[in-house]
Amino acid sequence: MATIKPIEGRTVHQIQSGQVIVDLCSVVKELVENSLDAGATNIDVRFKNQGLESIEVQDNGDGISPHNYETVALKHYTSKLSTYSDLATLQTFGFRGEALSSLCALSRFSIITCMARDAPKGTKLEFEVSGKLKGKSTVAAQKGTTVIVENLFNNLPVRRRELERNIKREWSRVIGVLGQYACIQTGIKFSVSQQAAKGKKTILFSTKGNQTTRDNIANVFGAKTLTALVPLDLTLELEPTSGPSQRRSTQEDGGKKDVRIVGHISRPVSGEGRQTPDRQMFFVNARPCGLPQVSKAFNEVYKAYNASQSPFIFANIELDTHLYDVNVSPDKRTILLHDQTRMLENLKTALIALFESQEYTVPV
Ligand code: ADP
Ligand code: MG
Repeated sequence: MATIKPIEGRTVHQIQSGQVIVDLCSVVKELVENSLDAGATNIDVRFKNQGLESIEVQDNGDGISPHNYETVALKHYTSKLSTYSDLATLQTFGFRGEALSSLCALSRFSIITCMARDAPKGTKLEFEVSGKLKGKSTVAAQKGTTVIVENLFNNLPVRRRELERNIKREWSRVIGVLGQYACIQTGIKFSVSQQAAKGKKTILFSTKGNQTTRDNIANVFGAKTLTALVPLDLTLELEPTSGPSQRRSTQEDGGKKDVRIVGHISRPVSGEGRQTPDRQMFFVNARPCGLPQVSKAFNEVYKAYNASQSPFIFANIELDTHLYDVNVSPDKRTILLHDQTRMLENLKTALIALFESQEYTVPV
């Protein structure tokens, strides 16, 4: 009989890394979120050959302190969370210290970082597959961090082939998700560019550090998009949490029970929607996420007013951090909402009331 024995550490690391970084989209998402967590106001995302050659994310955030160089890419090393209970009040995008360590296992990975006091000198850090620091050198740099991912999935041949084969579809998802961060984050300048193999660099879109999501949408999708949009601002009441096993959200701990949904939506009249059900963006406290049930509720109500088209939807669900859980899947794409059934019912009622009001239904 075969002997049962533990999997060797390095193998475990590689297996798990492939679950955190599942595709190009997860790379981009993790790196942009790290830049946002570092307080960046400028985020520059550069692709070579649609990311197949390299993905670089440069920010002007805090930079990485020299005392963290050795640990920055080690698995489960994070500056954002230390105890399990912190998860309930999480304010940052990251919390598990897995993205950088996974990228070390799945690509050629390096970082250039510089803290304000050291500019214009920075440090280039290179890492082993395990996430251990391999080498550092002094380079010219401005305050902030640039993360460079080359040859993604070079050591997972099947995944690499899949990526190359599906690059067209994957690329449009990547641009979509970057558009979501660029639209929801106000006061931040995003720039996304791509350089084809041996081709010249093209800027795909950029935002200007606008103060409103409306201006961001105009930068990303074009000013014309705005003409069909009306503001969305719904407040839904949720049942207070109860029962001994559930955490009660009270006024004392700063918890609020209401859910607010803020954003923009196509006016529900013919000619103002879209022919295809694309450009529907959902966020939970500014975290982009797929919410199929919420999306379905929006589309159902919209359909009653404009059966031939789908709405552009940009909806940020603002709710207390106790009322959802992002730690559901390794890639953090799935979010569990507290009392979703009730929330959806209230959402539909509130949307109907909104669409019934004059300014929404009379074409301009
Ligand atoms: P997490 O975001 O869950 O903490 P990561 O593996 O994404 O885990 O990052 C590990 C740590 O590296 C972070 O906690 C943070 O301290 C540091 N870090 C990563 N990216 C940046 C960045 N762009 N600027 C400054 N620090 C960063
Ligand atoms: Mg992170």
